[in-house]
Amino acid sequence: MTRIFRAEQIKEAAQILRKGGTVIFPTETVYGLGARYDDEKALEKIFTAKGRPKDNPLILHIYKMEQLEGLVREIPEGAKILMERFWPGPLTLIFRKRPEISSIISAGLETVAVRMPSDNLAQRFLREVDLPIAAPSANLSGSPSPTSEDHLMDMMGRVDGILLGGDSSIGLESTVVDMTRTPPLLLRPGKVSLEELEEVLGQVDLYQSNKESYASPGLKYRHYAPQTPVVLLQGSDENLIKFINCNQENCVYVVKELVYRACGEKKCHLFYPKEDIDYAAREYFRLLRTLDNQSYDIIYITEIPILGLGRALMDRILRSSGGHTRRLE
Ligand code: AMP
Ligand code: MG
Repeated sequence: MTRIFRAEQIKEAAQILRKGGTVIFPTETVYGLGARYDDEKALEKIFTAKGRPKDNPLILHIYKMEQLEGLVREIPEGAKILMERFWPGPLTLIFRKRPEISSIISAGLETVAVRMPSDNLAQRFLREVDLPIAAPSANLSGSPSPTSEDHLMDMMGRVDGILLGGDSSIGLESTVVDMTRTPPLLLRPGKVSLEELEEVLGQVDLYQSNKESYASPGLKYRHYAPQTPVVLLQGSDENLIKFINCNQENCVYVVKELVYRACGEKKCHLFYPKEDIDYAAREYFRLLRTLDNQSYDIIYITEIPILGLGRALMDRILRSSGGHTRRLE
């Protein structure tokens, strides 16, 4: 049975987790599905609840720096600078792990991912539990990450508790940077952007899953995908408008304001009003879930500029589409 908790009942939710249960909790990125980092049975429950492959590692969540020392072998200089600047916040750093950290968390790697969330309820929950919490996103493996309370219904009966916390303020998963490499390697783009990382660190390499053999294990899977096929549409605004006006498929188009104004609300869904990329990121997973319930045969999404948070959003769109793109000439 899954027990539901409001913020006032945070102590009860924390008790369930401390006793080896699994509890979903809010963060500023997406909801996480947490368990004690030092209890392998509890960790196993995360993988069962999500249907998550065992080779996809978990992120450890902490609320104070003292907790980091018990998890990692060393803290590189660059990591210190990043933590100073971006923690608490949507940035996950990869360190060499201490041997006592379970290989269930690291998926057999010698490294471990750590993040300090900034969300107020997440911090209070971590403080109540007072142990690092291992947590991936609280969705069924492969489906869009949960960014609001109603998205958690998929997990009813699969976890021991859910701590409700409203809508996620960022709505995309954290930026992940491997600090065991020189230069550091950006594995997953997020709200903390490549440009911001470079400003602090100088050079940062960009992981390209199709070109490199090194894998951040979870990144190889098709991700964030609704049941309805998603296709990325590429081409000029003019070509997009022409295509939307002629195409007869039972589909919906997720577009920017200019195309929306030209083609109308019957076929199109306005994605980023006034080109507000923060809004689009916050709404993206909710949008996928909503459109998935409307029996379209295809969800077409148009390209956005790969800059700042746009890089993270394009990454999620490409993963949702499983790489399916259609170029309009
Ligand atoms: P999730 O919280 O569901 O987004 O999943 C955590 C993601 O963090 C994984 O899918 C990996 O991409 C990344 N990750 C966690 N631990 C490591 C690690 N030790 N090395 C590289 N990537 C990691
Ligand atoms: Mg995930």
